[in-house]
Amino acid sequence: MIPVMAGYWRAAVEACGRGRLIRLQVTDLIGALSEAMVLALLIPLVRVLAGAGTTEVPGLGWRLTAGVSTGALLGAVALRALTQWYSTVSASSIKLATTNHLRLRALRNVLHSDWQHLARQRRSDIVQATTTEIERADAALGMLLRLGVQTLMTLATAAVGLAISPLLGGIAMAALLLVVAITGRSVRSTLRLGLEWGRRNAIFGATVTDSLSSLRLIRAHDAADEWSDMLREAADAGRRIEKRYVEIGAGLQAALGIAGVVAAVALVLIGHGLGLGVAPLLALAVVTSRLLGTARSLLQSVQAFAQLAPALEGVERISREAAAHVDPATGHPTPPSPGPPPVIELRSLSAGYAVEPAVRDLSLVIEPGAFVVVSGPSGAGKSTLLDVLLCLLAPSAGAFLVDGAPVTDVTAWRAQIGYVPQQTVLVPATVRQNLTWSTHAPTTDEQLWQALEDAEVAGAVRALPDGLDTELQDFTQLSGGEQQRLCIARALVRSPRVLVLDEATSALDVPTENAVLERLRARGCTIVMATHRPGVIETAEQRIDLLP
Ligand code: ADP
Repeated sequence: MIPVMAGYWRAAVEACGRGRLIRLQVTDLIGALSEAMVLALLIPLVRVLAGAGTTEVPGLGWRLTAGVSTGALLGAVALRALTQWYSTVSASSIKLATTNHLRLRALRNVLHSDWQHLARQRRSDIVQATTTEIERADAALGMLLRLGVQTLMTLATAAVGLAISPLLGGIAMAALLLVVAITGRSVRSTLRLGLEWGRRNAIFGATVTDSLSSLRLIRAHDAADEWSDMLREAADAGRRIEKRYVEIGAGLQAALGIAGVVAAVALVLIGHGLGLGVAPLLALAVVTSRLLGTARSLLQSVQAFAQLAPALEGVERISREAAAHVDPATGHPTPPSPGPPPVIELRSLSAGYAVEPAVRDLSLVIEPGAFVVVSGPSGAGKSTLLDVLLCLLAPSAGAFLVDGAPVTDVTAWRAQIGYVPQQTVLVPATVRQNLTWSTHAPTTDEQLWQALEDAEVAGAVRALPDGLDTELQDFTQLSGGEQQRLCIARALVRSPRVLVLDEATSALDVPTENAVLERLRARGCTIVMATHRPGVIETAEQRIDLLP
């Protein structure tokens, strides 16, 4: 438990600085002292109200009159309210800043990690970690910060009990420590439940993500019920864990409730037997019930923290692993100066993601401005070869040369490339933003329209209500083929010397595909295109046929 707490503390210090956290702790300490003051001042007030001229504050020995004790009590109440307000506001802003920092750091690390690491990651795990898990970590941090206040409040209340009657206060404290020791085991099992809960959540997230990306297939195979069953199973596993957590928590609370009432009555009876007056007995009853209240909410927070806390490890693991695989080759991209396409050479090249390379012993020289087609059955290694060209994957044997030399400045090389993947990648933003997020330089409307014309999609964009500034919210304003051509236009806006197309015209009809390819070839850049289409393969100047 302690190492988990330390992890949260470190994260909060990183995000907000030690000073802010210490200020919060000091405020909580003042709040706890004012709470103790309120309780301690109850005795002189009751005594004075019962007719005593002046009376003493337990533990401190101050003698107070009615006016002074009432004023001091009100002052302590006001101070407690003020510190509570500050503590709540400050804890909330620390919590938000910390989880925002953790989320953005994890995403930044993921975005900067090398492709081989990224390709192994389950997308839904990253989504889950940076959405659901980070929300759980946020709640856990909130609980941890509350734990600090509640611990101080409990200690302050116990100290007042000790001041009123060392014997009775000592018994109350001992009982409290006994309860804490007994609940330790249940806290550890809640921590385990929290871990399992996070794992189940990840499985549920993956099932939901898979089902959303398989909607077409599910509908076509009329398998909605089967998928619903799979989702229910995944959700049920999580629900069972939550139920177990609630059972443990409720059992603890009930036991503590009974034990607390018995302890309060017993303490008052013992106090009466020891001859304590009405005022200390009354204060002792108040102190005991407060002690019970703060101890109960303390344990509640500990339980909730234990259940939520493992979420931080989930987020940090993704972040740490991504940071350990930072792509050392990437730098700050700058647009390349205009120039002719380079000579690309594959010399006895082998590459792949598995031990057995998908691309084996391939040799080829691609002349500047050539149109090269990569073909072969599914799984033959077409995308793998394109990954080598993009410097996402290093060759396992042989060499990949640009203008006769291996690529040493990957950023400068990638700046010369326009890449269009198989999947349409559009973000919910304007057409302009979708076209320009990878240009790394200001672009004019003229350049954008030229790219749209070359991708044969300018007409569709002109027909949108706000042209380039139309928000593409649900993407239904454009057909599948138009979306794919918009992605081609995005690659063209980079003014590439080499265009790498991975089945990037699969959603186009043959006449449109021919028209697009004709325009692309007219730009004079080298084109390397993975495709199955015989009509396109025939028109290529060079062919790479990969075997399964
Ligand atoms: P194609 O594009 O011709 O369909 P790929 O290049 O995608 O073929 O795949 C070639 C082989 O490499 C396949 O066996 C595939 O399972 C494997 N492969 C592709 N990408 C990855 C990856 N990211 N991780 C592990 N294996 C991969």
